Amino acid sequence: MKNSKTRKIKQEIILTGIPTSPGIASGPAYIFRPFQLNISELEIKVEDINHELDLFNSAIEKVLRQLENAQKSSEAYYQDQFSEIFESQKAFLKDPILINEIKQEIQRSQSSAAFAISKILSKKSEYFINLENRYFRERAYDIIDLKHKLVNALLGIDVDYQLTTPAIVVAEVLSPSDTVNFNRNFILGFLTDKGGRTSHAAIMARGLRIPAVVNRYNLSQVLHDGDYLILDGFTGAIIINPTEETRKKYKNKKADFKKFEQRLYKEIELPAVTLDGVRIQMLANIEFVHEVNDARINKAEGIGLFRTESFFIEQQNMPSEDQQFSFYKQVIEQMNGNEVTIRVLDLGGDKILPNNEYQTEMNPFLGWRAIRFLLDRPSIFKAQLRAILRASAYGNVQILLPMISSVDEILKTKALIEEVKKSLLFDKIEFNPDIKLGAMIETPAAAMLADILTEYVDFFSIGTNDLTQYVLAIDRTNEKVSKYFSTFNPAVLNFVEATIKAAEKKGLPITLCGEFAAVPEAIPILLGMGLRSLSMNPFSIAGAKKIIRSLKLSECEKLYQDIKNYHTADEIEKACSSFVKRQISDLQYLK
Ligand code: PEP
Ligand code: MG
Repeated sequence: MKNSKTRKIKQEIILTGIPTSPGIASGPAYIFRPFQLNISELEIKVEDINHELDLFNSAIEKVLRQLENAQKSSEAYYQDQFSEIFESQKAFLKDPILINEIKQEIQRSQSSAAFAISKILSKKSEYFINLENRYFRERAYDIIDLKHKLVNALLGIDVDYQLTTPAIVVAEVLSPSDTVNFNRNFILGFLTDKGGRTSHAAIMARGLRIPAVVNRYNLSQVLHDGDYLILDGFTGAIIINPTEETRKKYKNKKADFKKFEQRLYKEIELPAVTLDGVRIQMLANIEFVHEVNDARINKAEGIGLFRTESFFIEQQNMPSEDQQFSFYKQVIEQMNGNEVTIRVLDLGGDKILPNNEYQTEMNPFLGWRAIRFLLDRPSIFKAQLRAILRASAYGNVQILLPMISSVDEILKTKALIEEVKKSLLFDKIEFNPDIKLGAMIETPAAAMLADILTEYVDFFSIGTNDLTQYVLAIDRTNEKVSKYFSTFNPAVLNFVEATIKAAEKKGLPITLCGEFAAVPEAIPILLGMGLRSLSMNPFSIAGAKKIIRSLKLSECEKLYQDIKNYHTADEIEKACSSFVKRQISDLQYLK
């Protein structure tokens, strides 16, 4: 192995990182350093600008070829599971605005192509890193990866992916192509300094069933090839130089998990039915086309929440009606007639488009967000509604409105939908005239008005992420107050229950699509309240089904009545936790 040094860490060191892909990995470290230079080392003033421009063009060509090859080898093994990830990196490299920006930088500052690339792409990645939304923060790592690839291509550096023995790959950051370029048979796990649950490398690691942990200690700079490591992809534990005793403990945990996982996926085809025969609908939350595959593998019965703002933010601009239409159509067609609930733009709060008219607000989550923004910008709203209606001709589509707090907002939206339908009829474009319209119940106002809202919409979807934020007055993105953020707070649970009861009274379909739907301790009380449909991250479906299949509805109902005697979130969570532990022995693997 390269980078081998004689130094050996003697004593066992246990660190805590962020688990991003479940499983246990143990083995020697392989330190992967694809890029060693910093920007200032690349700052060379050049005389021959045209020569640098040519070098830049050929670097782009070379990296596009590398991505093509990585995509081909990925498709040979994993079909089109990861194709979209490579497509988006290729599209980024072909973006004429970006290419121009770099060329202008070379010309303006007479700098080397390597310096210009590094400068512009560092700026772009910083923009993404500073966004509140975790998904977009992690897109920054794709841009850093492209920066490394382009600079390496310019400097003629070839990256070594030669893993000859099984090892845990340790890197500052891993890109989608790095992930597939390694020989799958030799990768035991991934330990990176950067990234998170939604970084592309983590998404791929989960898809490939490779345990992964992110550390915040720059371990890629500290560890050496051959250092023995254990990664716990459930708890985030990173153990360097484990003792014999620790190795044995984790060997057992790994064997246990393997058995558990085999059982879990054997049952994936089974419906989510409680022990006393009550059927629960299992839907998936998605934002991107590649996640449809995750939803299908995990046997989602439909898409309960298709967040569309991510597509807008990724485009870094307002996509046209046609671009939106083909994006929605792809998802709808791949869902083969199963329900797809498209939520209209939920911009604002922590999801801001670059270069748009948004001003910094004092209270962004109470500000110009979601339906408020859309109703103030009818041309943007109508383009999206038209794209969704056009796509509705290709499957089973419903429209979902975010952040509703009054009947007015629904009436105004309905008027716009009518206008759009008329224009489609006029243009002789097919659409579903009976498309269903639903409201997210995620403000206290909507929950309090739930009874009335049943008269105006066809279905409800409870958004517990925002409902918790707004009921408890806790900014969901502020780390300082995150300890107070608990959906188990009885104040929030009361709003959830009231909404479910209002829907039940009118026979209105209702689902819950906040993160709470996949919390093992929450599932029994949600069923106990009367909920029969859950929408969650596709990878949580198998575990949630396992929990549902081990519950009796009558006991869940009793649990929900019992917890009404508790007055704090902690007490309620503890009671729910001991209830679930009594039903499921392997709860630790469902986290
Ligand atoms: C929610 O608020 O619970 C929800 C599902 O929507 P988002 O997380 O996109 O705001
Ligand atoms: Mg929300």
